[in-house]
Amino acid sequence: MKPEEKPEEVEVIEEVEDIVAREAREKRMIDREKWKPKTSIGKKVWDGSITDIDYLIDNGIKILEPEITDLLLANLETDLLLIGQSKGKFGGGKRRVFKQTQKKTQEGNKPKFATLAVVGNKDGYVGIGYGKSKETVPAREKAIRNSKLNVIKIRRGCGSWQCGCKSPHSIPFSVDGKCGSAVIRLIPAPRGTGLCVENECQKVLKLAGIKDVWSKTRGQTGSKYNLIRACINALRKLISVKLHSRYYEQLGLIEGAAKVPEVKKDE
Ligand SMILES: [Zn+2]
Repeated sequence: MKPEEKPEEVEVIEEVEDIVAREAREKRMIDREKWKPKTSIGKKVWDGSITDIDYLIDNGIKILEPEITDLLLANLETDLLLIGQSKGKFGGGKRRVFKQTQKKTQEGNKPKFATLAVVGNKDGYVGIGYGKSKETVPAREKAIRNSKLNVIKIRRGCGSWQCGCKSPHSIPFSVDGKCGSAVIRLIPAPRGTGLCVENECQKVLKLAGIKDVWSKTRGQTGSKYNLIRACINALRKLISVKLHSRYYEQLGLIEGAAKVPEVKKDE
């Protein structure tokens, strides 16, 4: 009896895997049916002739439809950054998602809401987007939409001389980023350090897939909008710097998503 049962079990497992794969595929199909692409790149992504977002980023093709990013990058996560502040005496109150501004008119004060969203797959791709509107909900939607259009690729590695483990848990070299007077420097850190950065930048680096980093800031870092932009500018430099091929192995460099899934050792 027993030798006959075994093949059945294998079949059951295969069936379950089939169902999981089919569900994932159906979910994508639904996304696809709702979306009617308008740009030529969008149509190519829709019919499946472009399956890799690297093709768009490497060739400098602008993503004009947020659904492109949705389809090409799996496991996208979004987060809103606290760039605003509630009103209060003595230097303001709690940090808020929405930055409220007002325009004085004859009819009275007209408020507007702005917010900054970050999107990433925790594996080498991240983007931020700014959205502003008369109400909070459309502002959020605009911000998320814009963040999907501005996705950038990150180069990761281990540039810390204390570690030298050749795995992409940190950044390969230190980079500076600037926006307004806010200047941020990201420095490679050994494994297990965590993200020693300001809170909002932490969210960005987390969604980019960087685990360990040290940082140093200068200037008016209280205006979070500029600080976050500076952080993104620093991340942009990681990929724009040209490196000799011998460093690729030395620093354990990867660009974008990890091709071989990393074994989680410290978790
Ligand atoms: Zn390391």
